[in-house]
Amino acid sequence: MEIIKSYKSMQQYADRIRSKQETIALVPTMGFFHKGHLSLMKKAKEVSNCLVVSLFVNPTQFAPDEDFDSYPRDTERDLALAEKESVNVMFMPEREELYSSEFQTYVNLEKLPNHLCGLSRPTFFRGVATVVSKLFNIIKPHYAIFGQKDFQQLAIIRQMVKDLNFDIEIIGVPTFRESDGLAMSSRNKYLDSNQRKTALCLFQSLEKAFALVQAGETDPARIIAKATSLIESHAKTSIDYIKICDPMTIEDVVTIKKSALMALAVNVGKTRLIDNRILEIKT
Ligand code: AMP
Repeated sequence: MEIIKSYKSMQQYADRIRSKQETIALVPTMGFFHKGHLSLMKKAKEVSNCLVVSLFVNPTQFAPDEDFDSYPRDTERDLALAEKESVNVMFMPEREELYSSEFQTYVNLEKLPNHLCGLSRPTFFRGVATVVSKLFNIIKPHYAIFGQKDFQQLAIIRQMVKDLNFDIEIIGVPTFRESDGLAMSSRNKYLDSNQRKTALCLFQSLEKAFALVQAGETDPARIIAKATSLIESHAKTSIDYIKICDPMTIEDVVTIKKSALMALAVNVGKTRLIDNRILEIKT
C-alpha cells in the first residue's frame, strides 16, 4: 500500500494507472474507520483493481462551533485496517495541500442542500461538494463509493456529477449497522454507555415507521408523531429533524405513495447522529 500526501504525486499515480487502461475506485473518508468504511472498500475492490482511499478531515465542511478539532482520529489503526482491505493507495493530504491561503472556489448546489442536514448545517454541503470535486480532479477515479447512511450527501454527489459532467460512476452502499441496529459512525465514539443505549432510538423509530407503512399507514405526519414520541421518551435527546421525503429531491411528501425516504437527525447528549431508511408500501 502506498501512502501519498501530495496532490501532484497523486495525480501522476492516477495518470499511470489510467495509461495502463486500468480503472480506479475511490472511497472518500474522514478516517477513524469502522466496518461501514470497510464495506465501501470491499465494494470498491469488486469494481476495480486499483483502490484509492482518501483520508482527510475536511475543514470546510465544519462550522466554527462544530467538532473539527475533536473529530476522532487514529491514523495508525486506519492504515492497518486499510492494508487488510488491500487498499492500493491511501491519499492523505495535509490541510495546506488542498486549501491554500488564497483558496476561494467552492461548489454550491441550489436545491438539494436546502433540506434535512443542510438547514442546521448551512455550509456543510458546500464543503462536501467542494472537497469531493477536488478529490475527483486529483484522483480521476472511474468509480466513487459512498454510504447510503449519508443519504442526502449521496444525492448531492450524484447531482453534482451530473451537473458538472464528471465522468465517474457513483455507487451507493447500504448502511452497515451494529448487531442491535445502530448505524456505525465515527461519532459513536463520543457516546457513553447510557447514550449508546439511547442512540438505538433512531433505528427503532425507523423500524417502527417501516412497520406502520407496511401495515397501510401513508400519512407522514402520523408516522413522524410516533417517531417523535419514541425519541422524546429518552432523556437527553433533542430532535434536529424527522422527515419523510422524496429520495430524489429530498422534498417532503404529503402522502406516501409506493415508497419514501425517512431521515432523522437527533442529538444524544452533545453527539449529533443521523440515520435513514426507505419506507415501502406492501404490494
Ligand atoms: P466519513 O468518514 O464519516 O465521512 O464517511 C466516509 C464514507 O463512509 C461516506 O460515504 C459515508 O456515507 C460512509 N459511511 C459512514 N458510515 C457508514 C455506515 N455505517 N455504513 C456504510 N457506509 C458508511
